[in-house]
Amino acid sequence: MKRLYYNGKFYLESGKFAEAVLCDGEFITRIGQREDLKTLAFDEAIDLKGRTVLPGLNDSHCHVSAIGASYVQVDLYNCRSTQEIVEACREFIEKNPELCENGLRSMGWNQDLFAEGERFLLTKKELDQISTEIPISLQRVCGHVTSVNTKLMEIAHVDVNTPSPEGGTIEKDEKGEPNGIFTENAIHWIESFVPGYSDEVKEEFTIRALQHAQSLGLTSVQGNEVGGPNTTGEFRIFRKIYEEGKAKIRFRHQICFDGLEDMDTFLEGEAKEPIYKEGRLALGPVKMFKDGSLGGYTALLKNGYRGNPENKGVPVMDYPFQESFVKGVADRGWQVITHVIGDQAAEETLDAYESSFGEEGNTLRHGLVHLQITDRALMERVAKLNITAFYQPIFLDYDMHIVEERVGSELAATSYAFKTAEDLGIHVSYGTDAPVESLNPFPNIYSAVTRCDLKGFPEGGFVPQEKVTLEQAIDAYTTGSAYCEFKEDIKGRIKEGFLADFTVLDRDIFTIKTGEIKEIKAAMTIIGGEVVFKQDETL
Ligand SMILES: [Zn+2]
Repeated sequence: MKRLYYNGKFYLESGKFAEAVLCDGEFITRIGQREDLKTLAFDEAIDLKGRTVLPGLNDSHCHVSAIGASYVQVDLYNCRSTQEIVEACREFIEKNPELCENGLRSMGWNQDLFAEGERFLLTKKELDQISTEIPISLQRVCGHVTSVNTKLMEIAHVDVNTPSPEGGTIEKDEKGEPNGIFTENAIHWIESFVPGYSDEVKEEFTIRALQHAQSLGLTSVQGNEVGGPNTTGEFRIFRKIYEEGKAKIRFRHQICFDGLEDMDTFLEGEAKEPIYKEGRLALGPVKMFKDGSLGGYTALLKNGYRGNPENKGVPVMDYPFQESFVKGVADRGWQVITHVIGDQAAEETLDAYESSFGEEGNTLRHGLVHLQITDRALMERVAKLNITAFYQPIFLDYDMHIVEERVGSELAATSYAFKTAEDLGIHVSYGTDAPVESLNPFPNIYSAVTRCDLKGFPEGGFVPQEKVTLEQAIDAYTTGSAYCEFKEDIKGRIKEGFLADFTVLDRDIFTIKTGEIKEIKAAMTIIGGEVVFKQDETL
């Protein structure tokens, strides 16, 4: 099928645009003016009515299954007090008895949004007000802390004597009793005692989440879904969706393993499934976690938290394990990306990467996901080792209000250093970490370009010298994200021979005020030359 898309404003590169693009099947074959391309043969011509078109946007790190799960979970993102959380959960249980008969889980609460005096992590005391009959686990918005009720701890036999697992904590109150707060590696374990959703429910909400991604203008997503005890099951769900052609968006897995043994089982089994060889579902890097979150005080900081320097965060992986794990994965020829928020987490991860490199350096394109708290020397080291940054500029919306309180203003001013990364020539990609933040790419681009929160605060931007240009932000979201997948030669640019993936906008991102970028919507999403989403029929 040959399709001519014409009367568009196709962004080729900074300051360069084309009016028409001819696609043959999945690929772009010609770019030019409509007059030139009209003489060529095509089966269908689509008038874009002057709309601006970007290369298809590619979210370099998000969690599609968790976005899907949120469709069948109580919404805690908008709760502004513990009382609101208790009431929302009670109401949800009452209205959705079939979803809650074996337990309740959700995520999204954030104590920083509560009134002063109430800004503490939820404990069993609050959760017992929801129910003492079914097990409950409610994750904080960051996913690095969860709070559970007494019933769940009873089922899991957690008592005063239960030790914290490696790389995680079971928090205790003054009397030494578990208070219901679990962090990092303890979360997976405690949540394994709450029955999950059936495969049918999971498949349904995953498809919905993938369609949602397309409707936001995304043509590729790199999703960290699979890991922990349910790895095989999660792979199967994605495979089934793509085998049955129920999703069009390109998807690359970021995969968690408990260790090398776990990975070898995967290499002998799942990794051999033919579907991953070609098509739109791909296997990607091994994803590791080095630390937690700034909001939950579990990010690893070199000098500890402001006002409480003894608290340096939670090391999710100790260094000796990390070094041998990275080495083992690299020896098997696989890329590694690691969740790092704090500066100490980044330094140790760079040490582990560096020790795994041969003479050629970072040929496997190992990356750092988040890379939030940094100073100049750390950024220079990232550049020198040629490490890829997986950034989420939208994190600024919340973090700019807490980062100084957590790490002090000096370190805050050199953190979220998006412009420094560009200047140092670091490979940068953008994503949202959804559902931690919204999957919508436009507020994300807005955050990178303005460094304001979604209300427009502060005027001029937070640490304004770190604002990037609009073109840098678009490139990070397209060719930058493609680089993470070793696909920059066929994806992420509007160029002859490249995949025909496009994001058509409802207004011109290059001429509107920067404050309006966050309001942009995808008018149309085109994947492999085919329109997979249309905002309205006038197009
Ligand atoms: Zn994540």
